[in-house]
Amino acid sequence: MITLNHGLSGYVCGRVVMPLLKRRSPLSERAMGWAFFLGAMLPDVDILTRLVGRPVYFADAWYAHRHASHSILGTLTLAALVGALLLRLFARSQACARGRSYAWLVGCLWCGGLLHILGDLYTPGRPLPVLWPWPGTYGAWRHIGWFSPYLLWLFLATLAIGWAAGALPWRWASLRRWEGLRRWAPPRALRNASVWLLYCLAAYRWIDFMLTSRYESWSQWEAYHLTLLPEAMIFPVTRGVGLMWRLFTG
Ligand SMILES: [Zn+2]
Repeated sequence: MITLNHGLSGYVCGRVVMPLLKRRSPLSERAMGWAFFLGAMLPDVDILTRLVGRPVYFADAWYAHRHASHSILGTLTLAALVGALLLRLFARSQACARGRSYAWLVGCLWCGGLLHILGDLYTPGRPLPVLWPWPGTYGAWRHIGWFSPYLLWLFLATLAIGWAAGALPWRWASLRRWEGLRRWAPPRALRNASVWLLYCLAAYRWIDFMLTSRYESWSQWEAYHLTLLPEAMIFPVTRGVGLMWRLFTG
């Protein structure tokens, strides 16, 4: 998948399990949400090898694109390193940095990384060394999940609605001149449950899309997306992603 879609899928899935996590975690919901988002993009940090050269990025070596960074061990290592860095930057005390917070942060980052692997297994013609350093590659299932403007809009719409449901107009109602709106605000528990259900539906649709879509050719990809979205929501995204891809890999 494109890196942003990975991050958004991680965030959405993180919100689904949040009611379970927040009961035990020393981290805030916001911190865990960011950790899922960031962790789900971390495997694509292998783009840094592009700085050395295009042949290095596309090489068949452990450090190249979609190699060690896209394995169970690689995602755990990245999560451990980035978790330590984040706590060093943001932790309020050293005791916090050494304790449960670190384990929870690494856990959320790693779960994001594992979701990244899941999303990339569907990329046609690009199997992943999931069990690296053990040999063997998996995936390349020829589905469309690896790049889809439909998924991008799905995630963005979910986040926008979720945010709006949490913030508007109930938060504005705290302003004096919107005082009257408070009476119309649904109970907080109902709002939270509705937003959670929305994230569940988005996560389900993401998985369902990756399982049921098929990739045969670029023209079939276009025709399939035109059954899901208006043209104006597809091609600006493909042009933007194409530009970025050429910029980083050309
Ligand atoms: Zn990837």
